[in-house]
Amino acid sequence: DQSDIKSIDSLPVKASFKKRKADLFALKRNSRVWFRASEDNWLLGVVQSKTDAGFGVCSSDGQIFEVGSTKILPANPEILEGVDDLIQLSYLNEPAVLHNLQYRYAQDTIYTKAGPVLIAINPFKKIPIYGPDYVQIYRNERKSILGPHVYMTADSAYKAMIEDEANQSIIISGESGAGKTETAKITMQYLAALGGGRGVENEILQTNPILEAFGNAKTLRNDNSSRFGKLIDIYFDTAGRICGAKIQTYLLEKSRVVQQAQGERSYHVFYQLCAGADPALRARLNLKAASEYRYLNQSECLVIDNINDAEEFQSMLRAMDVVQISKMDQDNAFSMLAAVLWLGNVTFSISDSENHVIVDDNEAIQSAAVLLHCNVKELMAALCTRKIRTRHEVIVQKLSHTQASDSRDALAKAIYASLFDWLVDGINKSLEARKRQTGRSISILDIYGFESFKKNTFEQLCINYANERLQQHFNRHLFKLEQEGYTAEGIDWTRVDFVDNQECLDLIEKRPMGLISLLDEECTFPRATEETLSLKLNKYLNGNSCFKFERGTTFRVRHYAGEVAYETVGIMEKNRDLLHADLLHLLGSSECSLVNSLAERVSNGFRKVNGMQTQKRSVATKFKGQLYKLMQKLEGTSPHFVRCIKPNRFQHANLYNNDLVLQQLRCCGVLEVVRISRSGYPTRYSHHQFAIRLPYFSHASVLWL
Ligand code: ADP
Ligand code: MG
Repeated sequence: DQSDIKSIDSLPVKASFKKRKADLFALKRNSRVWFRASEDNWLLGVVQSKTDAGFGVCSSDGQIFEVGSTKILPANPEILEGVDDLIQLSYLNEPAVLHNLQYRYAQDTIYTKAGPVLIAINPFKKIPIYGPDYVQIYRNERKSILGPHVYMTADSAYKAMIEDEANQSIIISGESGAGKTETAKITMQYLAALGGGRGVENEILQTNPILEAFGNAKTLRNDNSSRFGKLIDIYFDTAGRICGAKIQTYLLEKSRVVQQAQGERSYHVFYQLCAGADPALRARLNLKAASEYRYLNQSECLVIDNINDAEEFQSMLRAMDVVQISKMDQDNAFSMLAAVLWLGNVTFSISDSENHVIVDDNEAIQSAAVLLHCNVKELMAALCTRKIRTRHEVIVQKLSHTQASDSRDALAKAIYASLFDWLVDGINKSLEARKRQTGRSISILDIYGFESFKKNTFEQLCINYANERLQQHFNRHLFKLEQEGYTAEGIDWTRVDFVDNQECLDLIEKRPMGLISLLDEECTFPRATEETLSLKLNKYLNGNSCFKFERGTTFRVRHYAGEVAYETVGIMEKNRDLLHADLLHLLGSSECSLVNSLAERVSNGFRKVNGMQTQKRSVATKFKGQLYKLMQKLEGTSPHFVRCIKPNRFQHANLYNNDLVLQQLRCCGVLEVVRISRSGYPTRYSHHQFAIRLPYFSHASVLWL
């Protein structure tokens, strides 16, 4: 269920035709070349002879090949083997770039610069290049000895923040499992170490185990996959030390609470609680083993290799103490988790000839009611009936088995998602800047990468939409602004083309005829179905070249990173994300203040329409607003880009799959960035800036400039 990979054969030759011809013409006897011996396999060789059809090439193991001129590319001289920055390569073709990265990876050199972008290839093993000694090296500008590193990126951001007095951002992207979250943590560790690593710095680091427990889960791609996006702003005081932080999260995947694919898990914290709670807590929550809960046992995966959930629970508790989440809040949060688990075990029985159901009175419903501090009879009623208010009376409608199960799951999801938000708010209160701050910050963005599975639905649409936005920001900074600068200054310059993704963004977010608007509109019609939604999309979006209606309830979107087929099945419920008023009312009537405040969070999304009916801002529209704010904020910062690359699909160390790497490099436009940076100018200053900085430059660099 991975996005399909184009074979190397279908690669467009990126270098201009003229340049390519000149390169080939320059090939002589003994020139080093890359040649394609079979479909997708580039080999290194040496030209023996020129023939009418192309070249005679000798491979490194002494075989002679006849190679057509479309299957040969110049290779870099040996002296350029494994360069630190792809800019330094004389020939920037795909086999050359791949070879350079692989050469470095084989020596555990996972970081490589691609002009202004840092490429980080996931080693899937511990490499001893982190920690205080390395921080010292990168702080003390001795980085040239060690080469590119996230520490170097973090250090550049820090220095630029101080020297230019400008806010900075570090934008980390990549597929699931590529190493974004680890990279974000390493960046945070570096910044924390600059300030000594105690006090608030430590609190900031300790937010990671908490958020990972509540927001990460084992998926087929990553044992510790973040199921939410995260931006953390780290604030600095006048002495250049961290003085506080603020976390913003995006779109937690809440469907995971009630359902997971086979072999995947729900959020770590559930298993941690079941494995690690002490006897007193177990008794209070009436807690059983994870295998006893349907929300946890249905996917037939309860443990993760090499992870001890009980120990993780203890680390999480310590982290909660460091971040100053009170014992009472911790206890209340655990009650909510147990309530969610017990809700999952609530069952229903048919009660009449029309297949309406009632809740089975058993341990599950009793425990859930106790933990939510609400009346068990009311909870049962709210789960299997709907009160419909007309002008004169209240009609009680009984629910079918499916409807009742859906309302039970909706309640569990709403409790969990609002608990997550409540927790983030609590963390933010603790991290609020204490000392007088300069107002300067470094923001680190760790957001889900592009996703394309066999089945794609609402979540993938939102995630890929976010990636389109980020890609546009990346393009804007590395292509548009760069090239516009040259044009504005009248510098002789051949434009480098890049894929502009505006049309895809228009498709998704334009009003009133974009995907989100049309979806929202359809969601307001009670009688709308997946088919009517498909018809509507087809009717209004067919003109956009990024949209293709497939059949039935499937449509395709051409994203910058590839085409994705989406299913409209379930999209409207996820976008509406309604919790029935009866359930909301029930939570509001609880005697526990946390439950009340969770209810308030859920209902905050509602607004009154015509003074009567209440309607909620749709999930997609809310997300669009969040993304808009995110982009505005990033636009106010100087960006540093890190592209994480996954070298194989098995989370294995020392395994490097060229095709997979190439596909990821292509998706994100890294090669084009290198091309621009190489032909562009590496440094730019205004006359004034240059004049005042002059004393800092070494003699050599002045001459060079
Ligand atoms: P993503 O956030 O992109 O989905 P993660 O950051 O969770 O991916 O990384 C997945 C796994 O890869 C981690 O759990 C860790 O085992 C491994 N990993 C990632 N980056 C590194 C690194 N720099 N050093 C060692 N292991 C890493
Ligand atoms: Mg992650």
